[in-house]
Amino acid sequence: MQRLYNDFFGSFGGRYVAEILRPPLDELERVWLEAMKSDDFQKELDTQLTEFAGRPTPLMFAENATKALKGAKIYIKLEGLANTGAHKINNVLGQALLAKRMGKQRIIAETGAGQHGFATAAVCAKLGFECKVYMGEIDMKRQRPNVFWMELFGAEVEPVKGGSSTLKDAVNEALRDWASSFETTHYLLGSALGPSPYPDMAREFQSVVGREVESEINRRNLDVETLIACVGGGSNAIGFFYPFLDETTPRLIGVEAGGTGNSPGEHASRMSGSGKPGIVHGYKSLFLLDDDGQVGSTHSISAGLDYPGIGPQLAYLGQTKRIEFTKISDREALDALQFFAKNEGIIFALESAHAGAEAIKLAKSLSPEKSIIVNMSGRGDKDLFILAGNLDKDKWHSFLEKEVKENAK
Ligand SMILES: *Cc1c(COP(=O)(O)O)cnc(C)c1O
Repeated sequence: MQRLYNDFFGSFGGRYVAEILRPPLDELERVWLEAMKSDDFQKELDTQLTEFAGRPTPLMFAENATKALKGAKIYIKLEGLANTGAHKINNVLGQALLAKRMGKQRIIAETGAGQHGFATAAVCAKLGFECKVYMGEIDMKRQRPNVFWMELFGAEVEPVKGGSSTLKDAVNEALRDWASSFETTHYLLGSALGPSPYPDMAREFQSVVGREVESEINRRNLDVETLIACVGGGSNAIGFFYPFLDETTPRLIGVEAGGTGNSPGEHASRMSGSGKPGIVHGYKSLFLLDDDGQVGSTHSISAGLDYPGIGPQLAYLGQTKRIEFTKISDREALDALQFFAKNEGIIFALESAHAGAEAIKLAKSLSPEKSIIVNMSGRGDKDLFILAGNLDKDKWHSFLEKEVKENAK
């Protein structure tokens, strides 16, 4: 089939898949491009985003944090207030409505932190799809509450044991399923990456975040110096940055997981670290690879930021320098999470806390007329076990011990 649009960002992107996956990707591309021009589709999506997801999400002035840091004004886009607790729902609703248009009955997804699986399971319950979520066994342990919620929504959560038993392995399993099921099944990929049209499609569905921010900037007449977002695969960042990409201001900063150190396996910094060109999961981009060119291992305290690759458009915009990349360590993310909790009464997801930490650093160096906007891509309820285990270890462990003992009776 003749390609309908250019799916490369510089040298990154494209569609590097087995022949068997070409027909469903062609179908998806065609239906998506048609839907983008359809008023009925937009209307249906807008209704679901408003009634089910709870959009628009607020842009909050973090007044206390700003006062404490004595620098630029900090604003926080509260994506965590969307239904299911993160930005993931924007992309999921968009793709699920496409699946409906294509007449599919079943949806499969991969998930890392569990947030994408959680949003997918919720939307499948709402729109009436059968749902299967592939999740690495290690991630299932790290994010047990999300597994529970997905099952409550009626989804089947399939543990993935191969490789490092995390997100990248879950993507492989989902692609394997899709190769034999695409007649009835849509693969609902959760970030702005993978073979085309996924990177463009996820960005379009996430750009609602950026459009809402842009209209608030204009309404409040803010002098915005910088936008900051955390970057796992890159969907919240590219959606948040999208309306500003063709301008030279504001500064756009993507924050990667600095983890516990700079050695391989201790972080997931592809742009600010040592990403190399490669082709993984059907697209060309920068990846953390070992000396043999195999996908390397990663670490982050946040399950959503430890993916070894990055969306192709972000990799390209890093090369052109429109987006700057930096990294934040596990420790700095934990500190930022506590700072915003104590000062603002909000709980950042550990992923988003990486962006919050960068905002704290930057605000101090800027004058009070300037504004910084942080995308809080999700809220931290899901991280209770990690947070309490880190911040309040003894009390938390004795609570868990007591629960286990009493339930065993
Ligand atoms: C999944 C997730 C991320 C990382 O994914 P992106 O595609 O990079 O946005 C970041 N924050 C939260 C809260 C998430 O759930």
